[in-house]
Amino acid sequence: MHELTLLFGIADSVGKVVKENDLDHVDAVVVDIGEATAVVPEFMQDGYSVVSDEYDFLRGSELIINRIKAIGICQNCGEEFDIMKYEGICPECGSFEKEVISGFDFYIREVRVYEHPDQTS
Ligand SMILES: [Zn+2]
Repeated sequence: MHELTLLFGIADSVGKVVKENDLDHVDAVVVDIGEATAVVPEFMQDGYSVVSDEYDFLRGSELIINRIKAIGICQNCGEEFDIMKYEGICPECGSFEKEVISGFDFYIREVRVYEHPDQTS
């Protein structure tokens, strides 16, 4: 399950942010994942509960997945279309020839730390 590898990579990157910003805990990690990647969001969520438990700074935090649409431009007629929706075939002319302009995204967009003003425990 390569999602776990990705998650440990995310934990690593967040760990650096935590260190650089002198934080001790984060509440949410927002990641952009393109539809054209082989990453399965459900596996990411399942894996996150395991991986986040391994790190003090991630324990109890949530993973927010922001799906990025896979968009292609037809090399035959220039039509811009949703690759997943049309299964990679241009809806205008039926061509398979396309340039993928988005959808292979995979990066950490944001690390969130919420205010805990009344935390006394
Ligand atoms: Zn076309």
